[in-house]
This record gives sequence, C-alpha cells and structure tokens, in this order.
Amino acid sequence: MTARTAAWHAATVVASRPETATARRIELEVPTWPGNEAGSHLDVRLTAPDGYQASRSYSIASAGPGTRIVLAVDEVPDGEVSPFLVHDLRDGDQIEVHGPLGAFFVWMPSDDPAPVQLIAGGSGVVPLFAMASAHAASADATPFRLLYSVRTPDDVFFADELEALVGERFALDLVYTRRAPANAECAPARLTVEGLRAAVIPADQRPRVFVCGPTPFVEAVSGWLIEAGHSAARIRTERFGGS
Ligand SMILES: Cc1cc2nc3c(=O)[nH]c(=O)nc-3n(C[C@H](O)[C@H](O)[C@H](O)COP(=O)(O)OP(=O)(O)OC[C@H]3O[C@@H](n4cnc5c(N)ncnc54)[C@H](O)[C@@H]3O)c2cc1C
Repeated sequence: MTARTAAWHAATVVASRPETATARRIELEVPTWPGNEAGSHLDVRLTAPDGYQASRSYSIASAGPGTRIVLAVDEVPDGEVSPFLVHDLRDGDQIEVHGPLGAFFVWMPSDDPAPVQLIAGGSGVVPLFAMASAHAASADATPFRLLYSVRTPDDVFFADELEALVGERFALDLVYTRRAPANAECAPARLTVEGLRAAVIPADQRPRVFVCGPTPFVEAVSGWLIEAGHSAARIRTERFGGS
C-alpha cells in the first residue's frame, strides 16, 4: 500500500440526491485526490462570503484510487454545517476538503483470516458501507457481518446497495429503534447487550470489529463487546459526536 498524504483539495459537487428522509448523498469530483482506503474520512471546510469558515469531518462512502468521492450527510437539527450540506449545496458548487484522514479506522484485505464484524448506529454506517463495498469488490474470502441500528426503515442509508451485498460473504442485521417494517420479527427497540450478543460474530471466533456512530452508541456497544469477551485490541471505533 502506498501512503496517501493528507492535504487540502478543491472539490466540486457533481451530483447529490436524498439518501434518507434526513440525509443527502453528495458526490464530489476532486481532481487532485490521491485516493482513499475504505473507512477513511475527510474534513469539509465551508467559507461564507464574509470569510467566516466552518469545518466538520465526514466519512467517505467510496474507496479506491479514483478522484470521485461519495459522502452521505445526515442533518443534525440546529447544526451549523450539516443543514447547509443537506439543503443548500448545489451541483457545481465548490468546497474544500482535507484528507484522506483516519488510517486507523480502515479495512483492507489482509492475511488475517478472522471474520469482520461491522456495527453501525445511524449515519455511522457510512465508513462501514465503504468497507463492505471494498470487501465485496475484492477477492478477500473472510466473512463480513453488519449490525446496523436505525430509527425506521426510511432511515436506512445505502438500503438497496446493502441488500445487494447480502450473500455468502456478507450478512446484514438491521435493528429498528422507533418503527420496524410490518414483517419484522421484532418490535422496535433500542439495541441491548442481549440483542448485540445475538447478532454479532461470537468472541471465540476472534472477529475484527469496527464500530461507528454517535458517541453514546459507540461507547455502549464497545462496553458490551468487552463484556461479551471480545478483545479490546480487536475493536476499532469511530465516534461521530453528539451526546
Ligand atoms: C470522523 C468523523 C466522521 C463523520 N462522518 C459523518 C458522516 O459520514 N455523516 C454524517 O452525517 N456525519 C458525520 N460526522 C459528524 C459530523 O462531523 C458533524 O458533527 C455533524 O454533521 C454535525 O455538524 P453540524 O455542524 O451540523 O452540528 P454542530 O453545529 O457541530 O452541532 C449542533 C449540535 O448537535 C450536536 N451534534 C454534533 N454532531 C452530532 C452528531 N453526529 N449526532 C448527534 N448530535 C450531534 C452537537 O453536540 C451540538 O449540540 C462525522 C464525525 C466525525 C468525527
């Protein structure tokens, strides 16, 4: 693997569309982008006409050597940056991005034959989707499993793409916290330690685990994984903020 050095880049919005009821998928063309591993993120910097600047981190839903980058931004009500990205950004707009960042929270094919467990809360699925897609595109035979906690069926990011990945090498478990589909086996409820244990690769298989989402979600899940016997050294986490 060649090292990809983080730098500032000019990015142009080339496409965008609703991802969920509250989120938008944004595709950027970044001619100087060095490519990125699956799971990395970047910083977006916006500059107002009066020179005021604001930056926030966003995971990259795409991976590989190309110069097209896909982001998926969920609106945080009353937030400073995400409402602008979701509602006001237009095709052709220019923004600045700094990256790629986050070499620790990435997946790439390796000699480690252990299965990979992904655990997402809400928009935390963005980097995990990049990992699942990169895995599907590779010859890597290790099994992947994604446990994805969302409020309702309308809040599932990358719903069709995730469904299409399901097969011998990828399993998807959705947990609905507020409203479940009519044919769901379980009533909507927040993820619990028991629910987690039932839906993740058992600790005795020594999976590599990637957990991403709002900070309280990541902290609860990490604690439950340790309680269930998973080694802290096998768990990687990314916190999106919030309390
Ligand atoms: C490494 C990394 C990757 C990220 N990737 C993504 C991504 O792919 N998609 C995405 O939608 N977001 C992602 N985020 C979150 C993103 O950086 C912003 O925090 C989020 O968009 C809110 O920014 P804002 O300016 O709208 O809100 P702010 O003005 O910063 O905050 C407004 C209020 O919302 C709270 N808040 C801030 N962030 C969150 C949050 N994530 N959840 C709940 N409450 C919050 C704050 O505490 C504050 O009270 C990522 C964060 C990190 C650190």
